[in-house]
Amino acid sequence: MTLQVIGTIAALRAELAARRQAGQSIGLAPTMGALHEGHGALIRRSARENACTVVSVFVNPTQFNDADDYRLYPRTPETDVALCRDWGAQIVFAPAVPEMYPEPPLAHVDVERVSGKLCGAFRPGHFRGVATVVAKLFHIVQPQKAYFGQKDAQQLAVIRRMVGDLNFPVEIVAVPTVREPDGLAMSSRNRRLSAEERRQAPRIYQALLEAARAVEAGTRQAGEVRRRGLALLGDAGFRVEYFEVVDPDTIQPVDEIAGTVLIAAAAWLGPVRLIDNILARGPS
Ligand code: AMP
Repeated sequence: MTLQVIGTIAALRAELAARRQAGQSIGLAPTMGALHEGHGALIRRSARENACTVVSVFVNPTQFNDADDYRLYPRTPETDVALCRDWGAQIVFAPAVPEMYPEPPLAHVDVERVSGKLCGAFRPGHFRGVATVVAKLFHIVQPQKAYFGQKDAQQLAVIRRMVGDLNFPVEIVAVPTVREPDGLAMSSRNRRLSAEERRQAPRIYQALLEAARAVEAGTRQAGEVRRRGLALLGDAGFRVEYFEVVDPDTIQPVDEIAGTVLIAAAAWLGPVRLIDNILARGPS
């Protein structure tokens, strides 16, 4: 199957105009590259549902609030292209930074409230960078459907709210988190873990699973769930940023659990910041 690698907005727009003219539906999977099976799930799903799948590969500088994290973010462009071909994509859009930001941008998308808690509280400006670059990609690609991982649950909530509030004509498809056999959520950052850190890393999912079991068994006090999670991860040697119980749509903390909640955690192991989450259904 042929795969085109395109670096400019003009060339991508011309190619997509021709495909739309030919009646093809367009699916978009936005990524930062260093692709793994988690991205594979998004891309395969898009390939099943659309005649043309565009994978954007762009390490977006405006969503990094830590210069080292941006500099050290893994970049594997050749492998990414080969994987996109295997997974059934038609186009890889891999712009250079000046193509996306020819001058420092003055217009931004801020999704208030939904962006404020969890990662937003620890990474100022992160979700503004994410929402703005995704809005740009939606305008450039104009997909009917766009695919996002449940792994980044707050990002998903931010994008859903942006699309709703600003009437983007795109359907957001959420794809379940893909995990390693030991439960660790796949992430491009995992490759920066040492062997010892890699052995510890699945504990984050184990703590989330335990919390979800407690919620499903009827625990109503979010504070209890929070404290237990923080203790488990602290004892396992993580530097924990948060272990929270929130509403999955608004990302606001919950006190008394009722209905479906999102349990989300962020914690550092050595130089790597890991995030993960799980949905749990409490008593209604
Ligand atoms: P990233 O390249 O990390 O910015 O991720 C690009 C997209 O892939 C986002 O929508 C992520 O939520 C999704 N993604 C990353 N890791 C996983 C995973 N383990 N399972 C499912 N989706 C994922």
